[in-house]
Amino acid sequence: MIIGFTSSFPVEVIYAAGYKPVDLNNVFITGNAKKYVEDAEFEGYPRNICSWIKGMYSVVLSSDIDAVIGVVEGDCSNTHSLMSTLQDKGIKIIPFSFPYNRNKVELEKEIKELEDYFLVEHSKVLEMKERLDQIRKKLVQLDKLTYMENKVTGLENHLWLVNSSDFNGGPNNFENRLDEFILEAENREPLKFNVRLGYLGVPPIISDLYDFFLENDANVVFNEIQRQFAMPYLEENLTDQYLKYTYPYSVFDRLEDIKVEIKKRKLNAVISYSQSFCHRQIDNILLKKYIDIPFLTIEGDQPGDLDARTKLRIESFLDMLRY
Ligand code: SF4
Repeated sequence: MIIGFTSSFPVEVIYAAGYKPVDLNNVFITGNAKKYVEDAEFEGYPRNICSWIKGMYSVVLSSDIDAVIGVVEGDCSNTHSLMSTLQDKGIKIIPFSFPYNRNKVELEKEIKELEDYFLVEHSKVLEMKERLDQIRKKLVQLDKLTYMENKVTGLENHLWLVNSSDFNGGPNNFENRLDEFILEAENREPLKFNVRLGYLGVPPIISDLYDFFLENDANVVFNEIQRQFAMPYLEENLTDQYLKYTYPYSVFDRLEDIKVEIKKRKLNAVISYSQSFCHRQIDNILLKKYIDIPFLTIEGDQPGDLDARTKLRIESFLDMLRY
């Protein structure tokens, strides 16, 4: 059985139940993303709704996904309506919530409900967490190769971390490819660049963003949310792991993590990415207010390459950092 999901959640439960989890965002962005958005608009999804939501809708309807776990609290204000339109098409919907107040008991209850739904014992879920943590340790190593040794590009870092939300549906295969990649990266010469960037916000819908940074001698050595998807804290307990995960909670939790990483990774500046029509654009007000290094906000709407105006803004920002 293939289980789609709208945002990172305790994926251990699905693997422990013997099913294949699929992050709908990853399928959308690596597929014919423009067409997915168009198809949803053709069905009546409004133009002024985030493209990721439209993409996920079309991905589910055009694939062999059996059920969808919708993260209805702690992710996206549009998920409720996305779930309703999918349910109307006959798709099985399973809700999951991260408690707004980051309450441990409530989160434990949510995880238990998911385990009961999939008829899986908690001990099996913990065994799976141990297995996935072995891979997550390697992702921490890859992240260090990025910010300590400058041997991994921002794009490579982004791709590995973002894909760890579902381990591409197969942890063993993912791990084998990761091992090969780490070995190859360790033997590289360090990359040459003179600006160390942090990337904040949801993963970009823009395909050539990281390449454009590198062409301009800047590398992203901190991918904030993608790193969160990779669960880098390696907590002993499953609930604690998903309590430490900052993305579903308040922007102040994110800020705490970001500030530590700005120092640790010696960032020169941050790029804060906003998705058009996303409620998280409001969080950007506070990120900008409380982050005290140079800060550039960029916005993406439709899938595709950078537009000329955003390129100019990035170039000017990087020039300003150098002089
Ligand atoms: S980018 Fe924002 S609006 Fe779009 S799916 Fe993600 S959280 Fe929702």
